[in-house]
Amino acid sequence: MSADLICDVLIVGGGPAGLSVASHLGRHHRCIVVHQDLEIGKPVRTSGGTWVRDMQALGIPSELYQTIDQLDFFSDQEEARFAVQDDKMAVMDVTGVYQHLASEMSSQNSQLMLGTKFLRSEQGADGQYVSVVRSRDGAETTIHSQMIVDASGWHCAVLTALGLGQKPDRVGVGIEYEFPIRNHAPNRAVLFVGSTALTGYGWIFPTPDQKLRLGIGVINPDTDLSPRKVMDAFVREGHADRYNIEIPEDYEVNSGIIPSIPYDPTLVYGNVVRTGDAANFATPTVGEGIRIAIEFGRKLGAEITAHLDGDAQALRRYEKDAERRFKRDYKFGFQMNKRIAGYTPARWDKSVKRLSRLSELEMTALVRSNFHFRTIVRTVWLSLLAKLK
Ligand SMILES: Cc1cc2nc3c(=O)[nH]c(=O)nc-3n(C[C@H](O)[C@H](O)[C@H](O)COP(=O)(O)OP(=O)(O)OC[C@H]3O[C@@H](n4cnc5c(N)ncnc54)[C@H](O)[C@@H]3O)c2cc1C
Repeated sequence: MSADLICDVLIVGGGPAGLSVASHLGRHHRCIVVHQDLEIGKPVRTSGGTWVRDMQALGIPSELYQTIDQLDFFSDQEEARFAVQDDKMAVMDVTGVYQHLASEMSSQNSQLMLGTKFLRSEQGADGQYVSVVRSRDGAETTIHSQMIVDASGWHCAVLTALGLGQKPDRVGVGIEYEFPIRNHAPNRAVLFVGSTALTGYGWIFPTPDQKLRLGIGVINPDTDLSPRKVMDAFVREGHADRYNIEIPEDYEVNSGIIPSIPYDPTLVYGNVVRTGDAANFATPTVGEGIRIAIEFGRKLGAEITAHLDGDAQALRRYEKDAERRFKRDYKFGFQMNKRIAGYTPARWDKSVKRLSRLSELEMTALVRSNFHFRTIVRTVWLSLLAKLK
């Protein structure tokens, strides 16, 4: 059986990007969000690290994130510890934040179809898109829309279906164990690199609900190891002791995939637009993308409204805004990403030692992939200094 629905904008993906586009569409435009998962924000596929100032700017309620004021980096032999004063980190209640974003959608103009997968689409002679989606019980629905937003994350489901793009051929794959926090300080986050997380990095993040997320991400195909194998070795070899964490017998497992490819500024393909991970917006240094998915999702919602209301420059503005914000920084960031993915544990030791000489502001700029001229000059200078020594 096939039923037909009509809307102005079909949004594929109910992650932070898709939900944010939907919530910022004008009330006079109707949208449908199709989301293949049965619930918003579940299963969790991300670790939720972010920054307090961004959460405040985006209006995320403070009970939905844990403030972090100690960020420690570890390699096999070195440590760099930062008391974070000026730009505090935070860890989100991921499900809570995504559900908050969904609650900002208006029930008058938007429809959320959970447990529904976008399958294919084609453009009719009248320019409208005719898309087919399938619910978990196998029922197919045809959706007619003027525009489609690809917010399907690394799947790039719409671009792939329409032959406009393809899935990324290099990805970060991560696994995370979540369990009660016990002895770990609730305001301290840890990032670790070296032999326990080759090609990628590991993290220990305390959550607002007194849990700890221990995760490891690696880059495929730079390594053909699965993150689960790397995590199993981490646990088996007792590395958790170094960070004062106890892994219980029972824990929740989260896992996810993120693109790790160069930034491509093309975001608009006629009336098809991509955003969030489908547009490779996450930072190339640590793969942090939630705040960016929300910010640019909201921008896109507003620009789609202007476009549908007749502003011929609106989508171009969205594309240009993103290009200004990401192109230069992400070029440096991606070069760095490629280089450090090949670091040996000994090379990581040198880098973490060098990191310990950075100020808090320089460290946060690197983590956020903000490559201001000053940060680059200072990093190169420290590198030269280390070589001279
Ligand atoms: C292991 C890991 C750790 C991370 N840690 C952090 C972090 O600490 N901080 C941070 O900010 N970012 C982090 N990220 C990145 C962050 O998760 C992403 O940048 C963010 O989720 C992007 O949001 P999005 O809405 O674009 O995509 P997604 O969150 O991927 O949402 C897209 C949704 O679309 C759905 N979908 C896909 N295909 C279809 C289809 N055909 N039909 C219907 N629905 C579909 C998917 O089920 C998915 O839920 C991490 C990523 C990974 C993988």
